[in-house]
Amino acid sequence: MTTHKPGPWRHYDAIIVGARCAGAATAMLLARQGLDVLVVERGEYGSDALSTHALMRGAVMQLQDWGLLDAVKASGATPVTRTSFHYGDERVNVRIKSEYGVDALYAPRRKFLDRILVDAARQAGARFHFGCIIDDLTRSADGAVSGARLRDEFGRIEEISAGIVIGADGARSTVARSVGAETLVEGQSATAVVYGYFQGLPDEGYRWGFAPGMASGVIPTNHGATLVFAGVPSAKYRETFAGDLAGGFGRVLAAQSPQLADQVRQAQPMERLRGYTGLPGFMRLPYGPGWALVGDAGYFRDPITAHGITDALRDAALLSRAVVSGRESGFAEYRYLRDALSRPLFDVTEAIASFDWTLDEVKRHHIALNAAMKVETAVMSRLGARLPVVPRRIEAAA
Ligand SMILES: Cc1cc2nc3c(=O)[nH]c(=O)nc-3n(C[C@H](O)[C@H](O)[C@H](O)COP(=O)(O)OP(=O)(O)OC[C@H]3O[C@@H](n4cnc5c(N)ncnc54)[C@H](O)[C@@H]3O)c2cc1C
Repeated sequence: MTTHKPGPWRHYDAIIVGARCAGAATAMLLARQGLDVLVVERGEYGSDALSTHALMRGAVMQLQDWGLLDAVKASGATPVTRTSFHYGDERVNVRIKSEYGVDALYAPRRKFLDRILVDAARQAGARFHFGCIIDDLTRSADGAVSGARLRDEFGRIEEISAGIVIGADGARSTVARSVGAETLVEGQSATAVVYGYFQGLPDEGYRWGFAPGMASGVIPTNHGATLVFAGVPSAKYRETFAGDLAGGFGRVLAAQSPQLADQVRQAQPMERLRGYTGLPGFMRLPYGPGWALVGDAGYFRDPITAHGITDALRDAALLSRAVVSGRESGFAEYRYLRDALSRPLFDVTEAIASFDWTLDEVKRHHIALNAAMKVETAVMSRLGARLPVVPRRIEAAA
């Protein structure tokens, strides 16, 4: 952490570190409220992320509220109107009900979804620097975060001041580390995932499969391509996949559903398989003087419940309300709502990612997950997309 020196640097109402679903959505919401926003992203505009990308109802509802669902549909995302859960040989079918104006789910690839959010934020007036890194934060004399140090692709350093610095920089957040954000909850469970994209699989909606010690998923994405993943406990990554991603992937699918494994063998692989080794979940304190965290930077849960993007969009909406309010109580409400809505999801995700269940137990975990998601969508639909009127000046939080 460097000490902020007065100087002729550019000032923004908010600097956001990270331009994916949490950062770009927060930027869009703040810029739409008239705030002067800079977003710094070390990656490239429109790039993909190491992530599967099934959206749950809450995310689709937010995208619709923000006027972005048509762009998602135009990206070629397949509407998902049914889901099936497979517990060993037992199959449970679920129709996606029309609720809160959402009659289908979508799973757009991140190269489409994140770009749609960035474009909407730009249209609202937010400024983006891609290929740049925030490597440190600056502080004012009272210790509050007052800005950030930006390093561009040529190694040039610039210090930029801001009313608030928002870390939307993922689970290994530089902002969280720099401010020493307290870890409030630490998970123990982690799933390792290998996934790929295939053409030629039948469209049967979302398909989630569970067998002792393993999981799988089939997710329709864009332009007829289907994402298929195979998951095992993180501790089993090496023995299952190391040195032979494709072999391990095929074996996990076959052990759960020979029929699915056959379909995937006959389908056309589109890209190389990708492997993710897993990381236990956590919840961090999401704000302090002059800073806040949103998305995975503040709250990370294992991907087995496919809920991270939905959470990121939800928390972008909640945090932007707090920033716009400019009040400590607004940030306290952000923390309260984030934690109250996330904790049941976090706990059930931990239970599923432990792989320490019978098929009956994991079925019950899914019923609890569904109940938590219902509460989340009900609360978010009440809060709606509309934000309070903007004060132009933002006081440092807390
Ligand atoms: C294998 C896997 C499968 C998943 N499947 C699903 C799913 O099906 N559905 C779902 O909803 N969620 C899923 N998730 C979770 C989802 O990917 C995350 O919750 C989501 O990406 C969080 O978005 P974010 O914007 O908070 O962070 P990220 O997507 O991690 O983005 C953070 C950005 O910050 C940038 N950055 C980091 N540090 C700096 C810095 N110092 N300076 C500048 N830029 C920086 C990074 O380049 C990155 O682009 C999955 C995750 C994994 C790993």
